[in-house]
Amino acid sequence: MLSSTFKNTILKRSQATFTKPVTVSLIEGDGIGIEITASVKKIFAKAGVPIKWEDCDVGPVIKNNNTAIPDEAVANIKKNRVALKGPLATPIGKGHRSLNLTLRQTFGLYANLRPAQSIKGYDFLYKDIDFVVVRENTEGEYFGVEHEVNSDNVVSIKLITKEACERVIKFAIDQAVKTGRKNVVVVHQSTVQPKTDGLFKEVGESLVNYNKDIKLQFELLESYIYRSVKDPKIYHDAVVVAPNLYGDIITDLNSGLAVGSLGMTPSANIGTDVSIFEAVHGSAPDIAGKDLANPSAMLFAGCMLLEHVGLSEYSEKIKKAALATIAEGIKTGDLKGKSTNSQYTDAICAKL
Ligand code: NAD
Repeated sequence: MLSSTFKNTILKRSQATFTKPVTVSLIEGDGIGIEITASVKKIFAKAGVPIKWEDCDVGPVIKNNNTAIPDEAVANIKKNRVALKGPLATPIGKGHRSLNLTLRQTFGLYANLRPAQSIKGYDFLYKDIDFVVVRENTEGEYFGVEHEVNSDNVVSIKLITKEACERVIKFAIDQAVKTGRKNVVVVHQSTVQPKTDGLFKEVGESLVNYNKDIKLQFELLESYIYRSVKDPKIYHDAVVVAPNLYGDIITDLNSGLAVGSLGMTPSANIGTDVSIFEAVHGSAPDIAGKDLANPSAMLFAGCMLLEHVGLSEYSEKIKKAALATIAEGIKTGDLKGKSTNSQYTDAICAKL
């Protein structure tokens, strides 16, 4: 269950290199981002976390006809190497390219680590879910190149490179070692995309001996989806790694299976130099400004950040307080509770 939430899912490699207090770039985001960011700041302050926030406005700006991050924001995030980010809204259809994609591409955030675990006190479709998915984060359909052939026909480019496949699959294998899991499941759909997904699978096959303690398995996306819903425990001893779009869909499915709300699932976007932590969910315009949002996903993303920078003791303390609050029945509407974001936040603070 979630008592050790995300404890074992975070990289430990660069912990020693962050001096305390740790300066963190804070991207408030859009919609509910404003409310949940305020909530995280309040809880962190109450827990006495040795962190200094630096507000960071990521724009967007347009450079060479493309969406870009303002230079000051790029410099700030590069300097701090860690950022906590609220959700950023993307206009549907025409408009600027997703800022989320731009951030991932600007900082080379090649792996998106997304744990999803059941919560004590709120059983949804399944109890005891424990999934870890690593999603390739910079390529695939999300590379973001689409063309109009003519007014009735469009083409989208799916980019898959050997280099990106290799680093994300290696990351998944390393993650399996760190979390004590025995298998890595490489998800692909090479039956219908023999070139792109074929390459993803092929690179996986070339890495079977990368770590002899970890067994690599290969599974078609359709089979993975069916089996993960039918019998999720099959994947509890595995780290699942998938190309970008599949990984995005799989992890939203996992949020539904495990906890019944996107409001509970955090993620880490890991790069070589910079890492950005965020909730899996978006800006939730339907509930923005109403004090109804569940801040837990962003809070747990903040906890992943704390583990990343070597402040695990604060992460444990905060997670324990949040989970105890939910177990007591103080929870937001997405978890079928009656509390507002503010009430839930204050109840967590009261435990710290
Ligand atoms: P969404 O995740 O914002 O919302 C989906 C549903 O989940 C909504 O009903 C919403 O109310 C609910 N929900 C989400 N987070 C919640 C929370 N913390 N507490 C309670 N309920 C919550 O998805 P969407 O509506 O498809 O997207 C809205 C915008 O967010 C879009 O512009 C999209 O591009 C953007 N988006 C951004 C990110 C990101 O910044 N990483 C991720 C996904 C979507």
